[in-house]
Amino acid sequence: MKELIYLTYSEIKNKLNDGSLSSEDLVTAYLQRINSVDSKLKAFLEINQEKILKQAKESDVRRKSGKLLSEFDGIPIGIKDNICITGEITSCSSKILENFVSPYDATVITKLKEKGFVLFPRLNMDEFAMGSSTENSAFQTSKNPFDSERIPGGSSGGSAAAVAASMLPVSLGSDTGGSIRQPASLCGIWGLKPTYGRVSRFGLIAYASSLDQIGPFSNDMQGIIDLMEILSGIDSKDQTTAKVEHFESKSVSDIDWKGKKIGIMKTEDFNFSPDVNVRYLEILKSLEAKGAQLVPLDFSLLKYAIPVYYLIATAECSSNLSRFDGIRYGLRKETSGKLDDLYSESRSAGFGKEVKRRILLGTFSLSSGYYDAYYGKAQKARVLIRKQYAEFFKSVDVILQPTSPTTAFKVGEKTKDPIQMYQADILTTSVNLAGVPAISCPAGVDQNGLPIGIQLTTSHFDESKLLGFAKSLSNIDLCKVSLPKEIK
Ligand code: GLN
Repeated sequence: MKELIYLTYSEIKNKLNDGSLSSEDLVTAYLQRINSVDSKLKAFLEINQEKILKQAKESDVRRKSGKLLSEFDGIPIGIKDNICITGEITSCSSKILENFVSPYDATVITKLKEKGFVLFPRLNMDEFAMGSSTENSAFQTSKNPFDSERIPGGSSGGSAAAVAASMLPVSLGSDTGGSIRQPASLCGIWGLKPTYGRVSRFGLIAYASSLDQIGPFSNDMQGIIDLMEILSGIDSKDQTTAKVEHFESKSVSDIDWKGKKIGIMKTEDFNFSPDVNVRYLEILKSLEAKGAQLVPLDFSLLKYAIPVYYLIATAECSSNLSRFDGIRYGLRKETSGKLDDLYSESRSAGFGKEVKRRILLGTFSLSSGYYDAYYGKAQKARVLIRKQYAEFFKSVDVILQPTSPTTAFKVGEKTKDPIQMYQADILTTSVNLAGVPAISCPAGVDQNGLPIGIQLTTSHFDESKLLGFAKSLSNIDLCKVSLPKEIK
């Protein structure tokens, strides 16, 4: 029999439901795996074995007494440390919230609890979700399970590493400019950013409110499809959730590539690593052989995505993070001086370098005299990018691109140069600016055995089609990735 930790999400769900597996046995196996590999990978900020096991035992009791909450009862799921859970520390991997205990549940957590999931909280991340490698966590750098000298991507690096290292079958992350898709790509798993407005942001500690979305990671496609149905829906606590037809997992079916129009990019215009480039072209060729029609799209507007994203995201973060002032939440530096000193000393001690850089950038671009030149212009360019996507989807069914221009880089390789780090998001940020949904799917490995990811994008609220394409892509041999059993 396959060891429990190596089961896919679908296998776990089936075994729990046919009675051949208990949640306690499964969770115990995951806790053992965490104990044996997480000292190397540092995906978790904290593990409370007792609390986790208690949830699993309660699920088994419900199962025995025929009082199951849902077909998902007893399935373990990891939670990024910026999603609030009652009674748990939610630190955003920041010193300023190091001891902050959440007094309430995020809406997504309420939904998971209602279904009986076993929550594994506190997955490591870049501080306040700002970063592409988890090196900006105030507490620890998570590592890539395929090579522990490399980063797992970010900012949801802990959530991706936990799934890729078989410490969990599924987890939640948040994606503001790529933080689910990029780590999913670098860790060889699936990661979805839903359409903006699909999933409630209530209880997600905000980075940039007009871009943030919560979404799932999974070791198979079914985990993504199921979680998409569970997480999505209108929420009176988040006025940006959209009144649209509820997403149903049964609406997803395999897609026949024949006659489908696939939007593709000219790779010469981007600086992809050779292995990523070759794999992208191979996949396109195989889809063409299946009858798909490849439609080259003009991505020239994409070169503005990084500057536009970093202007808007930093402007919003400077405003969102003003609430952390030493008075209401988290860290407070005792000063003998005035109130202003208390603010500045608490914030100086509580925020890390990258967060401070972004608050400064955002405050600058919002200040009078510069507002029109920077923030105002970025908003206008954002409208153009959004229109560009709408145009694309008049002529194609789905867009296919690499998720990240390279595979996982070495720890420390890009920390000295923030602009180089920001370039890691070249293919993901425009999706958040437009608000459309996108998923990163595994697409084989490079010469060093490091995973490559392919990003699929469709128009707003078209997740059924998006996940159908992703499911079909997963069946292609070129895309298969085996997750590492031994962590080196
Ligand atoms: N890497 C991007 C940033 O640093 C995206 C982060 C995210 O999606 N949270 O802003």
